[in-house]
Amino acid sequence: MIFDCHIHSTFSTDSKMQIEDAIKKAKEKGMGLIVTDHMDIKYPIEGSFIFDCEKYFIEYEKYRSEDFLIGIELGLRDDCIYENKELVKNFPFDYVIGSIHVVDGVDIFQPSFYENREKAESYLHYLNFMYKCIRECDFIDSLGHINYVTRYAKYEDTELYYNDFKEIIDEILKIIAQREKAVEINTRRLENKIVALNMLDILKRFKELGGKYVTIGSDAHNIDSIGANFDIAVELSNRANLNIVYFKNRQPNYI
Ligand SMILES: [Zn+2]
Ligand SMILES: [Zn+2]
Repeated sequence: MIFDCHIHSTFSTDSKMQIEDAIKKAKEKGMGLIVTDHMDIKYPIEGSFIFDCEKYFIEYEKYRSEDFLIGIELGLRDDCIYENKELVKNFPFDYVIGSIHVVDGVDIFQPSFYENREKAESYLHYLNFMYKCIRECDFIDSLGHINYVTRYAKYEDTELYYNDFKEIIDEILKIIAQREKAVEINTRRLENKIVALNMLDILKRFKELGGKYVTIGSDAHNIDSIGANFDIAVELSNRANLNIVYFKNRQPNYI
């Protein structure tokens, strides 16, 4: 069974999706689900994008099954490695996504991250920061939305082209491949051919560097997005000759 490995429920600051509705929708689509609410420790706005993990497990444990698993999307930073590591150690997550949302204290959702900077400069800053975090954070299962920066950047062409940043992208992919971890195919915007082809370039390179696994996640914040564009993601994985997995009890499982 294919799993949507990246969704946000009411424990995420930016989602109102009820878990019961998400589970129902995934069932209708014949998919498994991993809930991965947002945890960005030290987020610039106090109290935002963090939640009480004990409460999370108390509330969601009763739904846990073969096709509903409990994960987390951790915001990686170089100044809270220990805190993130402890969190992962202290709770029985099935799956941990490592994502870059905040770079050197600035949420890259903010226009200020791009102001007075050329695209190459801000994208390199983002990717260098990602490299630094991935190198230090050996406790994640999958690298979330490597192309996240393309969502909110303020340039004429915001797409992330492998060839423009191949040195640093290679370094990131090498670490993930060596650790036998996964790269996420985030299906947001994947209906756009350019987005899909750019992701394919990255996936093919990941394979060349020894990578084995991909996870697929919609990053849904509402039920309509659950499982969106999964046919495209499956096609990309096949074209890159990578294995689609989901994580259960922190171990990769083939679909
Ligand atoms: Zn994210
Ligand atoms: Zn997310």
